[in-house]
Amino acid sequence: MRVTDDRYSRDRLRYDLAVRLIRHEARTQTIRQWTGLTDDRIRKLYRSYVRSTEGTRVRRHRGKSPRQASFFNRSRALQEETASLASVLWQFGVLPAQRVPDAARSVPGVARGELLCDAYETHARITPEPQISFEHAVYLAVALAGGVELRALHCRHCRGLGCGDSLALRKATCMSCGETLRPAPLAPAPAPRRAGAQAGTAPLP
Ligand SMILES: [Zn+2]
Repeated sequence: MRVTDDRYSRDRLRYDLAVRLIRHEARTQTIRQWTGLTDDRIRKLYRSYVRSTEGTRVRRHRGKSPRQASFFNRSRALQEETASLASVLWQFGVLPAQRVPDAARSVPGVARGELLCDAYETHARITPEPQISFEHAVYLAVALAGGVELRALHCRHCRGLGCGDSLALRKATCMSCGETLRPAPLAPAPAPRRAGAQAGTAPLP
């Protein structure tokens, strides 16, 4: 009976996360990667979610998820929002302390997905007119965890956090004080906010 109970709670967590992701207008591909649910189960869940929340506007996006690191560098406003979101992702424990290999496969998971939703919802509350969609936030989290297309950079002057793409590392400056940002080992991750919600990662050897 214990095994059945465990499976039930694991499935329940997957479905709860999938509903949160649907609410954030995540793509089916993203929901599949982070919850492990099949496309068929996601479609059914989407239909029943739309039925149960009649009147709530949720768009369903199809096609591929964002893949452009340059998006975060398009304007000063986006650079500032990206730096702020990266800080929140870090504070919520979404980003691992060290770069992880094959981040697109190793980062998505139910526990980290919950933290990612917590972080994005907080970001949306504290940011006036946010321009970064949830899908772009997912891309940012995975890219920063992998450290290939994008890297988390630290300001040695004010300890601010920023991001640089691999081509513009030398030009990235701190949004708070203008100091040149440098790649630096991140401080130890903050304690997870909820028991059992720690998103485990394997550090690079
Ligand atoms: Zn600074």
